[in-house]
Amino acid sequence: MDLGLKGKRALVCAASKGLGRGCAEALAAAGADLVINARGAEALLAAAEDIRQRYGVSVTPVAADIVSEDGRATVLEAAGPVDILVTNAGGPPPGLWSDWERADFIAALDANMLTPIALMKALLPGMIDRGWGRVVNITSQSVKAPIPVLGLSNSARAGLTGYVAGTARQVAPFGVTINNLLPGIHATDRADALDRGVAEADGISLEEARARRAATIPARRYGTPAEFGAACAFLCSTQAGFIVGQNILLDGGATNSVL
Ligand code: NAP
Repeated sequence: MDLGLKGKRALVCAASKGLGRGCAEALAAAGADLVINARGAEALLAAAEDIRQRYGVSVTPVAADIVSEDGRATVLEAAGPVDILVTNAGGPPPGLWSDWERADFIAALDANMLTPIALMKALLPGMIDRGWGRVVNITSQSVKAPIPVLGLSNSARAGLTGYVAGTARQVAPFGVTINNLLPGIHATDRADALDRGVAEADGISLEEARARRAATIPARRYGTPAEFGAACAFLCSTQAGFIVGQNILLDGGATNSVL
């Protein structure tokens, strides 16, 4: 299917690895030119070169911390006007409800709520002026069903979800859609880090921790960044213009709910 993205310009944040990289690759495969971001320059430059070679699109890498105000300004300046924004950043650390102090919550809110909001605030006006735009926020399955050890994530992502629910309906009249993609467990470095924590806590191997988690998922496996990216590219497509303010789970059936 031609997604109508040839020549569109997409900013994909936190995209040298994992789910952001999956989104960047799927958008590039659909013909979009990219601005990609991550903090570590080495992996980012390698990702940019790899995507350029494989898909023949223009890729501008910008090494910066998207969560810091300065880093965001650098990324936005390099990006210029964009048609597509994919927001993403590292997730907060796991812990117990009683572990977290105000500073921990502020850090989580900064990364997973206020950063995507700041990016939308900066880029939505241009999309509205041009009469077309797509925003996809990478959030989490935890928005639908809380993950107890990820209380910081549960809190910050719920805040972003509330903001998107109202904002998506305000920008839709101008041809701009905002939707959230909610990953369940996907095979990335982040999943490895979470599984390593479980392995250490339970005195089991990493493979055993993975196998135990996979057994709880109806699909009996982890998702892949490529599958995740394909869903993102579809939400960014011309065909997806009537999908507004939705929260779409990609979790292999892990969230046990009717709706
Ligand atoms: P990942 O494999 O660890 O990749 C994270 C990517 O983001 C890397 O490219 C990293 O590069 C970049 N990054 C992290 N912090 C950044 C920052 N402050 N500024 C710019 N770039 C940054 O993680 P992932 O699994 O793709 O997860 C992406 C998001 O989805 C996270 O918020 C995670 O919590 C959420 N999520 C993931 C899963 C899962 O199963 N994988 C499930 C639910 C939710 P640098 O380190 O070089 O900056």
